[in-house]
Amino acid sequence: MGQLDGKVAIVTGSASGIGREIALLYAQEGAKVVIADLMLPAAQATAAEFTAAGHTALAVEMNVVDEAAVEAGVAKVMASYGRIDILVSNAGIQIVHPIVDFPFADWKKLLAIHLDGAFLTTKACLKHMYAAGGGSVIYMGSVHSKEASVLKAPYVTAKHGLIGLCKVVAKEGAAHNVRANVICPGFVRTPLVEKQIPEQARTLGISEAEVVKNVMLKDTVDGEFTTVQDVAQAALFFAAAKTNAMTGQSLVVSHGWFMQ
Ligand code: NAD
Repeated sequence: MGQLDGKVAIVTGSASGIGREIALLYAQEGAKVVIADLMLPAAQATAAEFTAAGHTALAVEMNVVDEAAVEAGVAKVMASYGRIDILVSNAGIQIVHPIVDFPFADWKKLLAIHLDGAFLTTKACLKHMYAAGGGSVIYMGSVHSKEASVLKAPYVTAKHGLIGLCKVVAKEGAAHNVRANVICPGFVRTPLVEKQIPEQARTLGISEAEVVKNVMLKDTVDGEFTTVQDVAQAALFFAAAKTNAMTGQSLVVSHGWFMQ
């Protein structure tokens, strides 16, 4: 018996990184998983791998900032599986610059992917969760939902914003048995982070090793990266929770970088 038997889960940005691992763990726990990503070939490759391993997975092309694409993707899931029990709003990007040099277009692009994406996918899925009488919405926040770092103005702003959206969904969703929570990981070595290491080294004028040791992992209790598996376990905890006690919360998974 899997913890998510009979459930349908949409994970955005799950062709790669953290989202992919969450979708895999959900599939291993019996869920039908939807690999919703901007990159359709990568999403198809991930879904094909899961299917070959005996799981049920569907690849859906979805640019989370495009309302029509989100609505069409969710309609495809309803046509294929007939229900949506879990939404993990995970798609995200990172762009680093000091504020004085931050291109306005990049500020807007980052806020849109994280915040518009979370709003549009939530809006599209909630009506099906309400109609079915329940569901679980999980946002991929960050330690940057609680803390700030230099060079990351729009990212820190967006990740703090997701906590506000989560709290509203928790309040509005309560009457419909819908819970909403945020996961706040520390640094995880995915493509998103691999790209930042040389960028931050250049901007800060330090070596890549120093970026890892003295910037990314400086405040952890043990100098360790968080792993995709660590984050997936937190996502399973929120998705599989049996009561509505666990709603409106944010859980930090960061080797003690941020303690609350
Ligand atoms: P990643 O780059 O490995 O994966 C991101 C995925 O999102 C990719 O598959 C990409 O195609 C997809 N994507 C990007 N823009 C999209 C869009 N407009 N519509 C749909 N899909 C889109 O990154 P990751 O590290 O796995 O990050 C996933 C989430 O975790 C992000 O929200 C990120 O901010 C958050 N996060 C990451 C870390 C970390 O250290 N890696 C830490 C905390 C939070």
